[in-house]
Amino acid sequence: MPRRWVKQVAYLAAWLAAAALLGMFFGAPAWWLTAVLLLYVAHTLRHIYLLDRMLAGGKRVGPFATRGLWAEILARVDKLRKKSRNRKKKFHRVLREIRESTGALRDGGVILNAANEIVWFNPAATRMLGLDPRTDLGRRIDNLIRHPQFVGYLAEPGGEGISIPSPKIESGWIAVQIIPYGRDQSIAIIRDVTRETRLERTRRDFVANASHELRSPLTVLSGYLDTLADDDDLPESWQVPITEMLRQANRMTQILRDLMELTRLESAEADAGHGFVDVCSMLKLMVRDFGTVTAVQPALNLRFETDAALLGNETELHSIFFNLLNNAVRFTPASGSVEVVWRPDAHGAALEVIDTGIGIPEEEIPRITERFYRVDPGRSRATGGTGLGLAIVKHALQRHDGVLQISSVEGKGSTFRCLFATDRLVFRGGRAEAAV
Ligand code: ADP
Repeated sequence: MPRRWVKQVAYLAAWLAAAALLGMFFGAPAWWLTAVLLLYVAHTLRHIYLLDRMLAGGKRVGPFATRGLWAEILARVDKLRKKSRNRKKKFHRVLREIRESTGALRDGGVILNAANEIVWFNPAATRMLGLDPRTDLGRRIDNLIRHPQFVGYLAEPGGEGISIPSPKIESGWIAVQIIPYGRDQSIAIIRDVTRETRLERTRRDFVANASHELRSPLTVLSGYLDTLADDDDLPESWQVPITEMLRQANRMTQILRDLMELTRLESAEADAGHGFVDVCSMLKLMVRDFGTVTAVQPALNLRFETDAALLGNETELHSIFFNLLNNAVRFTPASGSVEVVWRPDAHGAALEVIDTGIGIPEEEIPRITERFYRVDPGRSRATGGTGLGLAIVKHALQRHDGVLQISSVEGKGSTFRCLFATDRLVFRGGRAEAAV
């Protein structure tokens, strides 16, 4: 027991003993004891009253007003009160600072609860989304922003977020990223990307227009060069330069074709559509055609572990598979092999192109889907590459909700894997077809 309590109990015992002595001396000890106890109760009540006044926000009790155990208790309560007052002040200050800083932020922030109802938002969110603090707190955000892409993203947030037209800023664009935190809470960060989107569109239009404008003169040049190359009367000294010019003109045509394809993929709707595509037939034909291009190329194998068909855009899917197969063949020596596998996967189905070619250094893998990025530009050009194949693959795959995975060991070979989700697949219930 703390010392102050021992003292208090000792005081009470001393008073009671004194009352008992007085009772024995003057008679009526019960009265004396009752009187002492009443005095003690009055003393205690007075201090409870002081404590109550203090807790009710009254003034602090001065040291002269009380002594002993009660003085200590009151002093401690007073200290706690002061501490809590300071903490409250600090809390208010921090809150004010947070409010001021989030108010000054140029990016919008909207806090959502587990039901996607708006709990809080800053002034920038008001500006970009047109939210009103008087009416919109507590409302579901997808009732206020109804863009289908946003609704889809809200249901499955993740990745780098989405860009959608701003519901408030005229012809403005916003980028939204939802970050989950705490228990079932999330914050939506909103950025005004109108300027970036306009620049991006200008860049895309420029590339599209330039490619388009260059195509016609190039077609004329290629046509004349074709005729000249076929001309038996062409002087011998002209044959090499004309053939080389024709080769380069064809290369330029291919680059323009890929650039236009890429621009088309970038500017088209985010979704590729849901046409029925018979993957097995497409791959069989493709592998057969590749097999007839030249005799000096790696062995090609095709294996089906599923007969699933895909829902998507036939031309784009053809372009994905063709580019991957084309790369595998170009970057694998004739003594090696290329295997194409269409198989079920935990989340749907996967198309794998596995080669035993030159491989890709690990640090280069994240960059090879960039436009015109090549590990070895000389080799890429020499084998007819444009540097745009994998950029096309990546974009076309994204439009099919697919993911591209690349694994490679330098000098040993590479595996390019396209993952397709179940809702893009049509299983025909047949057994896996035999290898072709
Ligand atoms: P390119 O026309 O140069 O093939 P891509 O975009 O298709 O352009 O590929 C980019 C680069 O990635 C290639 O230049 C090459 O360095 C590397 N690459 C792609 N596929 C393979 C592969 N199967 N094996 C080794 N390297 C590859």
